[in-house]
Amino acid sequence: MKLTYEPVIGLEIHGELLTNSKMFCGCSADYGSAPEPNTNICPTCTGLPGAMPVVNKKATELAALVGLALNCSINKHNTFARKNYYYPDLPKGYQISQYELPIAEKGWLDVSPSSPALPPVGEGSNSPLPMGEGLGVRVRVRRVHIEEDTAKLAHEKNYALVDFNRAGVPLLEIVSEPDIRTVEAALDYATKVRAILRYLGVNSGDMEKGVLRFEANISVRPVGSDEFRTRTEIKNLNSFRALVRASQYEIERQIKLYEAGETVIQETLGWDDARGVTTSQRSKEEAHDYRYFPEPDLPPLQLSDAWIESIRSQLPELPEAKTARFISDFGLTPSDARFLTSDLALADYFERVVAKSKSSAKTVHSWLAGELMRYLNDSGTDIKDLTLDPATFAQLIDMVTDKTIGASAGKTVLTELLTKGGDPAQIVKEKNLAQLTDVSAIQELVTKILDDNPKEVDEYNAGKETLFQWFMGQVARATKGKADPNVAKELMVKGLEERRK
Ligand code: ADP
Ligand code: MG
Ligand code: ZN
Repeated sequence: MKLTYEPVIGLEIHGELLTNSKMFCGCSADYGSAPEPNTNICPTCTGLPGAMPVVNKKATELAALVGLALNCSINKHNTFARKNYYYPDLPKGYQISQYELPIAEKGWLDVSPSSPALPPVGEGSNSPLPMGEGLGVRVRVRRVHIEEDTAKLAHEKNYALVDFNRAGVPLLEIVSEPDIRTVEAALDYATKVRAILRYLGVNSGDMEKGVLRFEANISVRPVGSDEFRTRTEIKNLNSFRALVRASQYEIERQIKLYEAGETVIQETLGWDDARGVTTSQRSKEEAHDYRYFPEPDLPPLQLSDAWIESIRSQLPELPEAKTARFISDFGLTPSDARFLTSDLALADYFERVVAKSKSSAKTVHSWLAGELMRYLNDSGTDIKDLTLDPATFAQLIDMVTDKTIGASAGKTVLTELLTKGGDPAQIVKEKNLAQLTDVSAIQELVTKILDDNPKEVDEYNAGKETLFQWFMGQVARATKGKADPNVAKELMVKGLEERRK
C-alpha cells in the first residue's frame, strides 16, 4: 500500500525592529539611509575589544508588544546570551541573543489552512500535495526573543566586501512550534505575523528590503502518525512566494526520499529561486555547537507587572479583531473584511470613506478593492501616500450610486482625482460626464437608431442575437457612454420586440 504523507512545518521569522538606534549602541537603526558603507558604525557594533553593549529600551518595549500581540506570556526576568559562531558578517564572533529565558514565550496564533490564494505551483511539481483537512488551526508560538542583525556581505569575484552599517540593528525572532500541517497554513501564519508587526508599527514588512525574513523547518511523515521525523531548515526566504515554493519543493523532495527507501539528513538548506530548488548549505548545527552562555556584559532584564501592563495597554485593535468588527458592523463577507484589514492603512481609509459616504459599505469596498487597488498597483503608490481625501472619494462613489454619473464615468473621474485631484462635481461638469437618465430622451435615441438601421433590426429578429451588443454600442456612441445602461437596455429590448414581424 502506498503511504500518504503530511508535512510538519515550524516557522522562524526574523524581523528588524523600527527603533531609532541599534540594539546595543547609539548608531542609527535606519542603516538604509547611511550615505556609504561603514559610516553607521561605532566600536560596539563593530566588536572592538572593550566596547560595552547597552540594551535599547525601546526595542524591549516593541518586543514585549509583539509577544503580547501573539498571546505570549512575558518573562519578567529574562536574559541575554552569547551565541558563538564565526562568520565575517559577525564582528564579535558571537551574536548577542536570548536563549534560556526569552522576553516572551508560549503564545499562539490561529490560522486557516486554506484562506489565502496560493501562487501556482512551480514546474516539476504536478503531484498533488498533501494539504490536510480544511479546519482552522492554532499554531503555538514557542518564543519571541531579542537579538541583533548581522552586517551585510557583498561577494565579488575574488573577494568579499563587508558593510557593518546594519550590524547590531535590533532583530526579533519569532519561533513557532511544529504545528503547521499545510503550506497554505504556513503562508497564512507568515501573512498574519507580518500584518501584526505592521499593525504594531514595529516593522515595515518590506520584504524586498530584507527587514523581514522567514525560515521554514520541514519534515514529512505518514498521515496518521504523530512522530516528528528529521527536519531540514530552509534559510532566508525573502518573500511569501519563496516561502511557498521552497516549502512545496522541500516537502516533495523528502517524500521522494522516503519512497525510495532513503532517509532525510538534518541540514540547513538555501533556496535557489531561479532554479526552484533547495540547496544544501551545511549540516545543521545543534544548540551545543553555538556554546551558548549568559552574556556577561549585560544584566538580566527585570520587568515589572506595571511595565508589562503599560505595554499591554498600548496594543491596538489587531487584524483578527478588526476583521470580526468589519463583518459585524459593516455586513461585509469574511473575505472582503480580511482583504480590507490586511493592511492597517487600507482599513483606516475604508472606515473614513464609509463614514463620509451614503453608499453601502459593500459598495465602498468594491471601489477600494477594484479601482483604487488597480491604481495603487499600476502607479506603485503606497496607500499611505494617497492624496485623495476620503470625503472626496465618498462623494464620487455617491455620485455613481445615485446615478448622477455612470460607472465608467465614475472611473474616469476617479482617475482624474487620483492623478490630478480636484472636485468630482466640477470634473463631471468640465468633462460633460453627467449620466443621461431622462427616459424620454433615451427612448427618442433608441427609436432613431432602430429606424435608421432596418437591416440590422431584421437580422436580429431573424436570430442574430449578437447584434444586440451592436445596438447598445450605437447608444453608447451617440451618448459618449452616458446613457443609463439599464434604461437603455430595457428600451432597446422593447423596441426590437415591437419591430419583430
Ligand atoms: P533549534 O533551532 O534550537 O534547533 P528546534 O529544533 O526545537 O530549535 O526548533 C526549531 C524550529 O524547527 C521550530 O520552529 C520548530 O517548530 C521546528 N521543528 C522542530 N522539529 C521539527 C520537525 N520534526 N519538523 C518540522 N519542524 C520542526
Ligand atoms: Mg534556527
Ligand atoms: Zn554602533
